Amino acid sequence: MNRDYYDILGVARGASADEIKKSYRKLAMKYHPDRNPGDPEAEASFKEAAEAYEVLCDAQKRKIYDTYGHEGLKNTGYSGPGTAEDIFSSFNDLFGDLFGFGGRSRRRNPNAPVPGDDLRYDMEISFMDAVHGTEREVDITKRETCWTCEGSGARPGHKPQTCPTCHGRGQVIRSQGFFQVSSTCPQCHGSGQVIADPCVDCNGQGLVNKTKKVSIKIPPGVDNGARMRLRGEGEGGRRGGHAGDLYVVIHVQPHEFFLREGQTIYLRYPVPMARAALGCEVEVPTVHGAAKLKIPAGTQGGERFTLRREGVPSLRGGGRGDMVVEVQVQTPTKLTKQQKELLKEFDAQYEEKHEEGFFSRLFHGHFSQGDKKQHAGDA
Ligand SMILES: [Zn+2]
Ligand SMILES: [Zn+2]
Repeated sequence: MNRDYYDILGVARGASADEIKKSYRKLAMKYHPDRNPGDPEAEASFKEAAEAYEVLCDAQKRKIYDTYGHEGLKNTGYSGPGTAEDIFSSFNDLFGDLFGFGGRSRRRNPNAPVPGDDLRYDMEISFMDAVHGTEREVDITKRETCWTCEGSGARPGHKPQTCPTCHGRGQVIRSQGFFQVSSTCPQCHGSGQVIADPCVDCNGQGLVNKTKKVSIKIPPGVDNGARMRLRGEGEGGRRGGHAGDLYVVIHVQPHEFFLREGQTIYLRYPVPMARAALGCEVEVPTVHGAAKLKIPAGTQGGERFTLRREGVPSLRGGGRGDMVVEVQVQTPTKLTKQQKELLKEFDAQYEEKHEEGFFSRLFHGHFSQGDKKQHAGDA
């Protein structure tokens, strides 16, 4: 089942986020369970596309996938987007405009209180702020209840009237391709009422624009795409309705060197060839500072070492995740004359010792079972 995510979505490896999104939407439409009832193949394709999209639309997951493949994601405990229902809940933004979910289509009593809309605020924070937590004060411009008319929109002492366009429903219905789309009435903007004598402070809107400073505390360990809900910090309600909520959506900038998946931090760490062969102790940067790491003699490129509890703290309390250091063995490129001589001498001795080793067997083609194991072991 480990098909390449780019193949699944039919996009090139360098595809832009927009291309990936477009291609996924196309596939989601094609394989959507509502359009293919009782077709397990379509459902499998739908889930497969969702999984590919969930990874490729997330800059960090994509980087891990590009670098380490499926294996890399598996090591981090990633297990795919789950059931079709989970897919909808996690991609609501994407499906919202696709299938007409999420839109308001309730019939409203024109005199009922109208709760305020929820607001979404997208906040970009640095990789390190996400690990350690931070606090930000932001200016949120929103519509708040007008207290002159108490959110009715009518001049005090006057009453609003039923909207003639939508007959008080607040919604008008029009056809768009396959779908019947109901949208907000253009005359009354969804309230179902028109105001003959509007309140002068809010021009009959019942709401006034205000900019408010909101302090947002971002807990340590927050991850890309996390949503935080600030109750009552959304738009004001009308006719006594309660205020909406403010949802802060966190976007974490990628780090130049560290990769993160959940609570695990990954780092590729270069070790000069000779030190990888001889073994050494190095100091590697971590998100918390630095840590000592013993590189054993004979370490191969790609070998991984785990530094316990040098990862990201858990959002729910609890401990830190781990850090995985992948050794990159560096081959020297600029050699002095003396270094060249030393390496030549080393190589001459190395060749003599290994004459009956891997290369001679490779060229003469007699692999025996026992020897094979020795070399497959360091993968
Ligand atoms: Zn007013
Ligand atoms: Zn109307």
